[in-house]
Amino acid sequence: MRKFVTTLLLACLPAAACAQPAVQARPAPAAPRLLIVISIDQLSADLFDEYRPVLLGGFGRLSRGTVFRNGYQSHAASETCPGHSTILTGLRPARTGIVANVWIDQSLTRSDKSVYCAEDERVSGSSSTAYTVSPLHLTGATLGDKLKGSFAGSLNVAVTGKDRSAVMMGGRNLDQRWYWDGKRFATDLRSTVPASATRANAAVAALIAIAQPPLQPPEICSAKARPVAIEGTDRSVGDGRFERAAGDVSGFRASPAFDGAVLALAAGLVQEMKLGQDAAPDLLSISLAATDYVGHGLGTGGQEMCLQLFSLDRDLGDFFRLLDRSGIDYAVALTADHGGQDIPERLRLQGVAASRVDPALAAAEIGKAIAAKLKLNGPVLLGDFFGDIYLDRALKPADRARVLREAVAAYRAHPQVEGVFTADQLVRTALPTAGPDRWSMIERARASFDPGRSGDLVVLLRRNVTPIAKPSRTFTATHGSPWDYDRRVPILFWRPGMTPADREEAIETVDIMPTLAAMLGVPIQSGSVDGKCLAGVLGIACPSP
Ligand code: ZN
Repeated sequence: MRKFVTTLLLACLPAAACAQPAVQARPAPAAPRLLIVISIDQLSADLFDEYRPVLLGGFGRLSRGTVFRNGYQSHAASETCPGHSTILTGLRPARTGIVANVWIDQSLTRSDKSVYCAEDERVSGSSSTAYTVSPLHLTGATLGDKLKGSFAGSLNVAVTGKDRSAVMMGGRNLDQRWYWDGKRFATDLRSTVPASATRANAAVAALIAIAQPPLQPPEICSAKARPVAIEGTDRSVGDGRFERAAGDVSGFRASPAFDGAVLALAAGLVQEMKLGQDAAPDLLSISLAATDYVGHGLGTGGQEMCLQLFSLDRDLGDFFRLLDRSGIDYAVALTADHGGQDIPERLRLQGVAASRVDPALAAAEIGKAIAAKLKLNGPVLLGDFFGDIYLDRALKPADRARVLREAVAAYRAHPQVEGVFTADQLVRTALPTAGPDRWSMIERARASFDPGRSGDLVVLLRRNVTPIAKPSRTFTATHGSPWDYDRRVPILFWRPGMTPADREEAIETVDIMPTLAAMLGVPIQSGSVDGKCLAGVLGIACPSP
């Protein structure tokens, strides 16, 4: 990917002009000219801890900054959209309104009652799978929104693998927002298309058109190359090396080359837009999704994830070196939107009592049994195996109360269920104030509960239950649980010349935004965010509370 990044950079054109607001404040004296915030989709703290000693490229550099190995996406709904919504708003999903990747809105007039977190369902003809990308559902401003409101000339740019990551990290007031739409890099903004986006798309199309030979694994990865059969399928994972046929777009997306392409586009935009080259600080948000696609399709414990992380480490290292050569004064923060867990089949080989979810736990199945028992018609319950479960809004109030009681009892009686909380219970639960490593299950659920969007019930599964009953080629392992393998993520801060520091205390991803705001000199109103400024990080002077 090194050649790819360099070619794009050399080919870039002069900066695009962007409209700016009036000056309202001055950046902090020590503010970097360019702040880069990176999210590695599904990079659990467990994976970071395991690989940190051997990743000496981009991760190695950031590991010599301030390292919090006990960062938390503290909420229960550990999915991509809620997780990304916390990083640059400083708000937990209960306040960003992004309670899941997809929730159910039974008041919609369209036949599809599912709502995608980054869609605008008011657009006629749209559905949760064929939608117009929009920040409509995100409550609260991002750091980039606030930066542009604070300093004339500041630019806010997001480049990501997934559209929802770009929306949740970028917010509403952006100069460029680019994400992979399944075939190419695309944008929902009506701004002029930068030359680097056109070139990135041409380069990626050329890459996808050619068959790719298997990657050569370093010894540490080949030592993990043991095939493990996935139950209920005729396939095994563990020894893959990412070879792919010409034209295999989904294979490209679930390979290390995908992150390289996103970083190449980001590097191109840094040069073309002259990010970090004037007095007003700029923000570049990057979300890299290949780790997530690799984790979902192949699990986290095999040769494939090892190859992915080594490749990502090298590409991040190349990206930072390009920035070094440009002479830009930059700082980096890196975290993840959630963690993840390996396939249960491989976990069992290591003695972990892991299982796949019982198909009988599907909301449709539980609902069918309740409807039969209470002699009711219709689906009664809507939802998946866990998380937000909704009562059919067509139920009469008396039936609704009966169904709710039956559903709570049915879920509680199931051996794979850890906890069931009703919306009433969650509304009455205070948001926790203790460290995120000490939260109870209901507190974790409360942190991603919004009474207007969340379920009538929130169901949490037991530890080591993978909520995939029938694995597929792209979906064998996942995240989404309230357990620390899905909640705990690394949070790293780096700036050239800083003294390395490892910090063991448990912090939250919502602490990132107020910390970076203090570094930049962006004012944050007291009480407007859930996070706190982290004293002593990057030499930042936190404002007095
Ligand atoms: Zn994710």
